[in-house]
Formats: sequence, C-alpha cells, structure tokens
Amino acid sequence: MSKIAFIGLGNMGGGMAANLVKAGHDVHAFDLAEAALARAKENGCTTYTSVKEAVQGADAVVSMLPNGAIVKAVYSADVIGHAPTSALLLDCSTIDVATAREVAALAADAGYAMVDAPVSGGIAAANGGTLTFMVGGSADAFARGEPILAAMGKAVIHAGDSGAGQAAKICNNMLLGASMIATCETFAMAEKLGLDLQTFFDISSKASGQCWSMTSYCPVPGVGPTTPADNGYQGGFATALMLKDLKLAMEAAKSAGADVPMGSRAAELYAAFDAAGNGGMDFSAIIKTL
Ligand code: NAD
Repeated sequence: MSKIAFIGLGNMGGGMAANLVKAGHDVHAFDLAEAALARAKENGCTTYTSVKEAVQGADAVVSMLPNGAIVKAVYSADVIGHAPTSALLLDCSTIDVATAREVAALAADAGYAMVDAPVSGGIAAANGGTLTFMVGGSADAFARGEPILAAMGKAVIHAGDSGAGQAAKICNNMLLGASMIATCETFAMAEKLGLDLQTFFDISSKASGQCWSMTSYCPVPGVGPTTPADNGYQGGFATALMLKDLKLAMEAAKSAGADVPMGSRAAELYAAFDAAGNGGMDFSAIIKTL
C-alpha cells in the first residue's frame, strides 16, 4: 500500500482516485470543489483542505486538472518543496507539451522524478478502471509509475521522454477529430446517394474505409454498435474537450513546424460547432452540420 496524494477529483479524477482506493492505496485527496471532495470521501479517500497538506509524506502525487496553467501553478506553488523528494509525480491531465516539459524540469531541478501520463478513454473508463495511459518520462520513473497507473487503467504505455505522453495524446486525438468528421461526411453523402446506411456500414466496416470512428463509435443513430448517437448525442466525449485537444494539437504542430491540413480543418469545424452552442454534445454530433 502506498500513500498517494490525488489532486483534481472531477469527472475523471473522482473515479480514478476511487480505483486507487480499491487497489488498496491510502489516497489523500484535494479538490477546490466541496462536492468533489465529498464524493472522494464517500469513495474511501482521506480529504484535505489544501494541496500542501494532501502531499505531506506522500509516496506519489497524481493530478487530474483542467489545463496547463493550473498544473504549473499547483506543482510550482504547492507540490514541489512540499511533497517529499522521494515522491513520484504523475500528471494525468491533458495539457500542452511545452508546459508538461517545463513542469517536469522544475520538478527535476528540485530533486523529484515526474511523468506526464495523459489518458485515452472518458468518464466511463475512468470509473471502470479501463483507461489507457501514455507516459512521458525516464525509464526509471515509468517503472515506478506503472503499477500505480495500472490500478486505474487497462494499458500503460511508455511513449518516450518527458512530454512524449502529451505528444502521443494530441496526435491521437487530432487523428480522431479528423477521422470522425470524415466518417460523418461519408455517411451524409452515402445517404444522399440513396444507400441504406446499415448496409453501407456493413460494407465499409469490412473494407478499406474502416476506422474506429465508424466501427466503434458510429455517428449515425441505429447503425453499428450502441454509441452516443443512440442516446441523442449525450454522454461520451464532449465537443468542448475535443476542441481543447485540437487547439493543443494546433499549438504543437506550429511549434514543431508540422504541416497538418486535415487536423487544422477539423479544428476549424469543431470550433464552429462549439461556438454554435454544442460544446456539451458528444463530438460525433457534428454529423448534424453535414
Ligand atoms: P473536471 O472539470 O470535471 O475536473 C477538474 C477538477 O479539477 C475539478 O473538480 C476542479 O474543481 C479541480 N481543480 C481545478 N483547479 C484546481 C486546483 N487549483 N486545485 C485542485 N483542484 C482543482 O474535468 P475532467 O473532465 O475531470 O478532466 C480533467 C482532465 O482530464 C482535463 O485535462 C481533460 O482534458 C482530461 N480528459 C478528460 C476526459 C473526459 O472525457 N472528461 C477524457 C480524457 C482526458
């Protein structure tokens, strides 16, 4: 059993902290929101009124926070210099590569090992302990973090050095955004050409056009497996979060000098869909605009 401080107990972090408790860890939890803290307490965490208190004597610190600015503020003011230097730091938030590297460097300068470990999988996977973690950091830090992350996920993959987890996450989600729009426009065109959509699904899901956005997450209600499309596009992966990831991908593409015409078009289309008031809808609902 390890003493694990957990910072950020929202939609994702709440379920992840509960899974660490189920795995037998002593979880010391903090969130700014009272409701999130109350839920963590019900799930067996010990709750604290500040990050500094929660990280005292911890063997590891896990965070699941909204963005890079918050991650940097929390680590530089309240974790570094307050957790023991023997504690492994694991940030599971989705943030920009540059900030992930900057915070890991600040931690290293103060004597800590840190990994960026963003996730693939939504709230259901966080609750069910079936997330996929992509991890950036040294081989030694990865080896230390793997058993902790394995208690919250079905796969833990070492992506490379510091920042590589975030890089893998945004590359994956840029492909997902573009492939979802391609799937949506293809079904819209198939319908206009008079094809039965289930029949087209049966053909294309076994032909060279098949992709995850079609076979596992079909955006057409009543076609393929049960997806958010069958539930009025509620639940699933919110458009606002897809847009967040696409913006991070565009920043990364710019700083790396990568030419990403499909990714940038996907970012424009999701920005317009979000601005039209659809940020809370599942990202496959963009089919309604096509
Ligand atoms: P959320 O808004 O539900 O949770 C974030 C939590 O952080 C909130 O409870 C908030 O009160 C807390 N918080 C904010 N500032 C804090 C601070 N300074 N100290 C302590 N707590 C603070 O968001 P979420 O959906 O759980 O997402 C968290 C991260 O996971 C994000 O980076 C997101 O991009 C990523 N992510 C989300 C999903 C998803 O489907 N929701 C999927 C993959 C990755």
